[in-house]
Amino acid sequence: MSTYRLQQLLSPRSVALIGASPRRGSLGYALLKNLKDAGFSGPIYPVNPHHHEIDGLKCVPAIGDLAETPDLMIVATPAPTVPSLVRAAGAKGVGAAIIVTAGLGHGPDSLAAQSEQIARQSGLRLLGPNCLGLIAPYAKLNGSFASRMPAPGHLAVISQSGAIAAAIAEWGITNASGFSAIASIGDQIDVDIGDLLDYFALDSKTRAILLYVESISRARKFMSAARAAARIKPVVVIKAGRHIEGAQAAATHTGAMAGSDAVYGAAFRRAGLLRVFDMDELFDAAETLSHVRNLKGKRLAILTNGGGIGVLAIDRLRDMGGTVAAVSPAIKERLDSVLPSTWSGANPVDIVGDAGPDRYVAALEALLADPANDAILVFNVPTAMASPREVAQAVANKVASQRSRSLQPKPVFTSWVGGDQTTVDIFNHTAIPHYSTEVEAVRGMMHLVRYQEAIASLMETPPSLPDDFKTDEKAARKIVDGALSEDRRWLDPLEVAALMAAYAIPITPTYHATDPDAAGRIAAPLLAEGQKVVLKIHSRDIVHKSDVGGVRVGLSSADDVARAASEIFNNAKRLRPDARIEGLIVQPMIQRKYARELILGIATDPVFGPVILFGRGGTAVEVINDKALALPPLDLNLANDLIGQTRVSRILSAYRDVPAARREDIAMTLVKISQLAADHPEIDEIDINPLLADERGVLALDARVSVSRKQIARSQSHLAIRPYPKEWERVLLLAPDWPILVRPVRPEDEGLFTEFFTQISDSDLRLRFFAPIKDFSHSFIARLTQIDYARSMAFVAFDQTSGKLLGAVRLHADANHDVAEYAILVRSDLKGRGLGWKLMQLVIEYARADGIKQIQGEVLRENTVMLRMCEELGFNIAPDPDDQALSIVSYRLA
Ligand code: ADP
Ligand code: MG
Repeated sequence: MSTYRLQQLLSPRSVALIGASPRRGSLGYALLKNLKDAGFSGPIYPVNPHHHEIDGLKCVPAIGDLAETPDLMIVATPAPTVPSLVRAAGAKGVGAAIIVTAGLGHGPDSLAAQSEQIARQSGLRLLGPNCLGLIAPYAKLNGSFASRMPAPGHLAVISQSGAIAAAIAEWGITNASGFSAIASIGDQIDVDIGDLLDYFALDSKTRAILLYVESISRARKFMSAARAAARIKPVVVIKAGRHIEGAQAAATHTGAMAGSDAVYGAAFRRAGLLRVFDMDELFDAAETLSHVRNLKGKRLAILTNGGGIGVLAIDRLRDMGGTVAAVSPAIKERLDSVLPSTWSGANPVDIVGDAGPDRYVAALEALLADPANDAILVFNVPTAMASPREVAQAVANKVASQRSRSLQPKPVFTSWVGGDQTTVDIFNHTAIPHYSTEVEAVRGMMHLVRYQEAIASLMETPPSLPDDFKTDEKAARKIVDGALSEDRRWLDPLEVAALMAAYAIPITPTYHATDPDAAGRIAAPLLAEGQKVVLKIHSRDIVHKSDVGGVRVGLSSADDVARAASEIFNNAKRLRPDARIEGLIVQPMIQRKYARELILGIATDPVFGPVILFGRGGTAVEVINDKALALPPLDLNLANDLIGQTRVSRILSAYRDVPAARREDIAMTLVKISQLAADHPEIDEIDINPLLADERGVLALDARVSVSRKQIARSQSHLAIRPYPKEWERVLLLAPDWPILVRPVRPEDEGLFTEFFTQISDSDLRLRFFAPIKDFSHSFIARLTQIDYARSMAFVAFDQTSGKLLGAVRLHADANHDVAEYAILVRSDLKGRGLGWKLMQLVIEYARADGIKQIQGEVLRENTVMLRMCEELGFNIAPDPDDQALSIVSYRLA
């Protein structure tokens, strides 16, 4: 349902309180008191059959008895009453309800499920149950039983824990930080994290979102909403339960290492959320994010009256990946002229212990003017020579005056060692982020830097995949289906080798031998070439072959082979009498002097579905535990990012006499495995260990694959992030001899767009963007090419022979997936050839298949060509009530 009616929840004009009570100590009393004390400006309607009046307010027996329909209802009555209250509220036309009550249970027949179903019939939105409630300071709404009401501000809080929501509210009151809203979401039977992320992403009062998560239940919805929100404003997340592992029966190394918290980490990283690990860090981040908007980079200048603290701050800054700003020569000269000769002469700018307000201000003024830094951190250590308060006031005045003069003021942070309440008040009053220690100050700033870097790196254009990368999906499907039809969970080694081959993942030649004699016959030609061979037990029941003495390497003669073969058989029969034994696997012995052993795999997480694992491989993988996870689908950028998160990535470069391994081949293998996961939902686990990597490329020596039957609709992906929808690739005929390739846009298309825009006339650009556009920046085009296929679609049309872009059409659905906006652009020299028409038809077909109810667009009135086409396609055309120059065109699909 997403943001439907959330306005009535978060900014209601009137509120009814069910279970309002005059009895001190009751929930109904606390809620009513909070509503009144916060000064809610609209009417408050207490509802309670036992009273005519409570605390001066008229009270009615039931919600149906109210003369007016309230926007919001707050429910504090016992659990069994909730479903009927929800029904009555729905009938009355109430927009939203906060269910503070706990104990509605879980599962299909619970009171919670009943309430949810009833609410859905009338479109009533439910927050909770089992929550602290909602605080919306701009609406002066305290719809919670928190003890105090914080001020309005720029942070939105979404919390799965009521206690944490209350703690954050308290922190805000103590630290004079305000909120746009604090929502305790409880059991999320309706309004969930994804809905609220969608709401706050577009809420103009919210500058940053704080998220407290215990577990996610709707992964796909969460990922879409989180990605969209994080691209608009910082989203900080803290997740509890880092050491609670999912109940995964792990049969592979990958499965064992893909713990639930690590998967959450990968999901947050992919969405661009900023993860913090404790409340202190959350508050540091909150302090920065609620005050600072335009931090341009990470070059920090430090102004201090004590050298030691400045140096400590610089150490921290380096630890956390920040940059120590230089002092520009001109600014240094200026500082020389205003400071005593004993000043440090460099960053940290130590203006010496006796510095008073004037010296601080002079130095600060110079640093504010220095283009070599992006932010300034001001320290003060108390001395007998100057008053810390006076210095604080002078610094605050300086910052305030630069803010009033500059459109993009430079951020200033402060830390007053041992600062008293008066100095804190000074900084709060001027909205200057302040911290009690140098660690917190630097960390606070670096949160914003990390957020900006993460988003920039997620928006980088990935390199195109090589043209010759082809997968044989059909061959792979046959192998998987074959195992499923025999009710087998594990593919056997020959099937695994064939599956890898189908996705062009290099694997050692693998042969099957039924008995030792056959093994000898297969080994003979290899031995004759001077190759050594490897024998392994071949059994679908034995997953870890070495554990049962089932692997023998380095066999160099027929005798060796014969002896090893019978030993392997004996070992297996002795140690695993239950196992069905198919025979032996024969492989050439791979000897690569500089090979690094890696592990690559897929595990299936109960919440996020398939996840990709990369790390250091070999037989000690779990012990070394050097790994990183990522959600598919992966492109080459994401694959490289995944590799870069591990320690083993460092030995992929050249060191000593070891040549660099072909990292691009490893990245490509990750992309292939991600494709395998996307194409085959039945695959539960893949474990390639070891994958050898060296200067010649990569080679898998051993892999396991497990499968199971899944019920997944064809149109729906089993991945948490909707992959490239290749089922929408089409060849359209523009003329009998002019085939055009049309497909969903890909991030790699950026370069094609850059060229495309040069071939659009200025007047066509204006018709499309409603404004003259001269400069197509990376971030501009990235917004067109890097889309979330779960929410948007864009089709690009290519000339098949030249590969050049001819036109594009896009469709962006609102968060509720009801109405989608379209926009279209065709190369100027191709107008009137029917391409626009074909693209419009395609987008209508797509919208219909996607369940969108209405397509809508804004068209300049002078764009008669477009308006005529819309009319012929059956669009309804109406003038835009808000803008004379525009027409609104719409097409109903439902
Ligand atoms: P498992 O993991 O079931 O114990 P593997 O097939 O991975 O069995 O073999 C165990 C180890 O033997 C591998 O980690 C690798 O070091 C080595 N090995 C396996 N196959 C080969 C091969 N063809 N050439 C060289 N070494 C091999
Ligand atoms: Mg192995």
